[in-house]
Amino acid sequence: MTSPSDLDTTFTSHAPGYWPESAMEKWSDHKWQLRNRIDSLADLEARINLSDEERAGVLLAGTKLAMAITPHFFNLIDKDDPNCPIRRQVIPRIEEGWTAPEELADPCGEDSHMPVPGLVHRYPDRVLFLVTDRCASYCRYCTRSRVVSGVGEQQLETQWEAAFKYLEEHTEVRDVLLSGGDPLLFSDAKLDKILTRLRAIPHIQFLRIGSRIPIFLPQRITPELCAMLKKHHPLFISIHSNHPKELTSEVQDGLVRLAEAGIPMGNQSVLLRGVNDSPEVQKALVHKLLMCRVRPYYLYQCDLITGSSHLRTSVAEGVNIIENLRGHTTGYAIPQFVIDGPGGGGKIPINPNYVVDSSEGKVTLRNYEGGIFDYPDPTRIPEGEMKALQEKAICKTC
Ligand SMILES: *Cc1c(COP(=O)(O)O)cnc(C)c1O
Repeated sequence: MTSPSDLDTTFTSHAPGYWPESAMEKWSDHKWQLRNRIDSLADLEARINLSDEERAGVLLAGTKLAMAITPHFFNLIDKDDPNCPIRRQVIPRIEEGWTAPEELADPCGEDSHMPVPGLVHRYPDRVLFLVTDRCASYCRYCTRSRVVSGVGEQQLETQWEAAFKYLEEHTEVRDVLLSGGDPLLFSDAKLDKILTRLRAIPHIQFLRIGSRIPIFLPQRITPELCAMLKKHHPLFISIHSNHPKELTSEVQDGLVRLAEAGIPMGNQSVLLRGVNDSPEVQKALVHKLLMCRVRPYYLYQCDLITGSSHLRTSVAEGVNIIENLRGHTTGYAIPQFVIDGPGGGGKIPINPNYVVDSSEGKVTLRNYEGGIFDYPDPTRIPEGEMKALQEKAICKTC
C-alpha cells in the first residue's frame, strides 16, 4: 500500500526524532551515529511497536546477518506501521529464517569468480574489489549476507597485497569498483591510501565506489572526505536508495557536496516487495534523485539470497515499473532494470518489449502510448541513380 507520505517530494530532516533534544549536539557527528546504532531488541522496543514477526526476526538474526540501524535512518521509520517501507529494509522478520528452494548463499556466484580473495573478476575489463565486510546499517536482503556484518558462516578475507599485484599484472582491467561492505566507513586516510595505490596503476582509467553511506549516514559526507575523493578523478559513486523517504535534507546536502566535488553519481536500487514495488513510489524516488543530482543507474530484481522470499517480487512487476516510466518521465530518471544472473551470469538487462514485429525490410514498434510505428531498413541507392549523380557532378568549366 502506498501512503501519501510515500510520494512526498520535499526534503526534510527528521532529527532528533526518537532521540532526546540533547542528542542534537552530536547528531552531525558520524562517529556518534555509529556508536548509537540500534542493534538490539531492547533498543527497538524502547522506540517503536514491533510486530510478532519482527520480534521473532530480531531473535533469529544474530547468526545470519547482524541488525544495525543508524539513528539517522531509524528516524525514517513509522512507529506504528508494521508495513513501513523503511522497516522492511532494516528490521529482520521471521520470514528470513525460511530458505526457499530457489535461494542461494552466494546468489551471484561471486566466490567462484575470485582470483584473489576479495577481488571478483567476472567481466573482461573491470573488477569488483570487496574492501570491507562492515556497513553503517544492514539491509535485510543483502546479496553478500554470507560475509557481511561478521556473524555469518563465511568471512571476507581481503588480501590487499595479492589484490594490488593482480591488478598491476592484469593490464586488461581499466575499471575498479570498490564495494563490500561499505568502503566509505574507512577513515579518509585509509581510503586515500587505497585510491592512491590504485591510481598509481597506469592502465586503471576509472574508479568507482559503491556505498549506501550517503543514505544511512550522510553525516560521513564531510567537506574533508569530498576534498580527498576529488584528488582521485575520474571517480564515480554509486549510491543505494530504494524509497523517496530516504532522501532527507541531510542526504540531499551530502549528495550535493559530492556533486560539487565533481563526482558523478548513479543510484542502484533493489526492487522490494512492500517497499518500492509500485510505479508511483519509483517515480517519486527517481524524481527526488535527479533533484539531488543523482542519475538512476540500475533497478535490480532482488537476488535469490537466502531468506528473501518475502521481499522479492515477480520479474513482471519490474518490467511494469519501467513501462510506467519510459515516455512518461525524463529519460535521465529511468534506471536500467537488471537481473544479476543466478550463479554468476552478470547483470542482464530486462526491458519491456517495444518491438512488435520484425520482418523483412522493417521493424514494427510500439511507443509508450501504444501507438504503432514502422521503421524501414535503409533503401540502397540504385546503380542507375548513382551513375546519374556522378555525371551531374562532372565539372563543365574546369
Ligand atoms: C556489478 C558488477 C560490476 C560492475 O558492472 P557495471 O555494469 O559496469 O556497473 C563489475 N563486477 C562485478 C562482479 C559486478 O557484480
